[in-house]
Amino acid sequence: MLEGEELFADRNRVSGGDNTRHPEFEIARWAAENLSPDQRKKAVVYTSGEHCPMCSAAHAWVGLGPIYYASSSKQLAGWFAEWGIPPGPVETLPINQVATGIEATGPDEELSEQVKLLQQAAHGVGGN
Ligand SMILES: [Zn+2]
Repeated sequence: MLEGEELFADRNRVSGGDNTRHPEFEIARWAAENLSPDQRKKAVVYTSGEHCPMCSAAHAWVGLGPIYYASSSKQLAGWFAEWGIPPGPVETLPINQVATGIEATGPDEELSEQVKLLQQAAHGVGGN
């Protein structure tokens, strides 16, 4: 494992009908199968959207390292409310409310604006 090497990448696959197919959950599963506990501890996860509670728990259970996210779950919930999209069945919680020992950094002001635009396009809502 080289420093700066991309080990695994994925995208959201919930459009197939399985709402657990979050990329952050797939990362945790992949890491559990392919990395030693020491490698997992050193692995940094970058994501466009903050982990949901399911993914935060999976991240913590497999012992992955720091998380950097572009937009927060709180931002996403706010955008959905603004666009009249009903909230999902799982409470919106910051990563550290679920996984207390994980170093989590975000949101990023510029990148979160880009994520908002992608979410608008994906849901066919909002815009100016
Ligand atoms: Zn998730």
